[in-house]
Amino acid sequence: MIGVYGGTFNPVHFGHLRTALEVKELFKLQRLHLVPCRLPAHRGQPEADAEIRMQMLAAAVADTPGFYADRRELERDGPSYMVDTLAALRSELAGDTPLVLFIGADAFAGLERWHRWQHLFEFAHIVVMTRPGFQPGPLPVFLQQRVVDDAGVLSVEAAGRVFFQPVTALAISATEIRRLIAAGRSPQFLLPDRVIALIRQHQLYQATTDQ
Ligand code: ATP
Repeated sequence: MIGVYGGTFNPVHFGHLRTALEVKELFKLQRLHLVPCRLPAHRGQPEADAEIRMQMLAAAVADTPGFYADRRELERDGPSYMVDTLAALRSELAGDTPLVLFIGADAFAGLERWHRWQHLFEFAHIVVMTRPGFQPGPLPVFLQQRVVDDAGVLSVEAAGRVFFQPVTALAISATEIRRLIAAGRSPQFLLPDRVIALIRQHQLYQATTDQ
């Protein structure tokens, strides 16, 4: 089973990395692709250049076996659509290899606004990373009929299912890290030291325009 974890990673932090490690272990992933988006399709342009976000991510996961900082969305023109990323990955894998897209419950709530969202399921399963005790609201029939209660199904089929997986959500956000830095405060212990070193080197987030 191969996993995909997308995001802006502006910058990558221990909230991302801890959940990524948990799902890698829980689902016994052969490999987890962490995929920074080039142009976020659903939000404003982030402040750090895509190449630098990629460098920070690569530095963060360099020593973690099975984690792969995947630059494929940086190589494509136009907005980063997850459906294109999954289609590309699927074409590199054997047809029966399960592919799983991991997304947060917040992102899942807006899934129907994603470009060609229904086609995501031709290429991958979706695992929604939730806080313990999370109860999904009513889902559209298209999604509801894909939900499985047994994670085992995800390794038997290659794509097409939805599963809810509780994970440890640390109270860390990239927005808060950017705010701290802009306010001249230290972000230490919220993200890897190597990422902090890159932030210093490139003088990122000194003045942040987004809240
Ligand atoms: P921002 O604060 O800029 O919105 P973010 O920290 O939420 O950024 P993103 O790169 O937008 O990070 O998120 C990528 C994925 O990581 C999303 O699926 C999101 O749900 C998840 N995620 C973000 N922060 C955490 C956290 N603290 N714990 C667990 N998952 C997280």
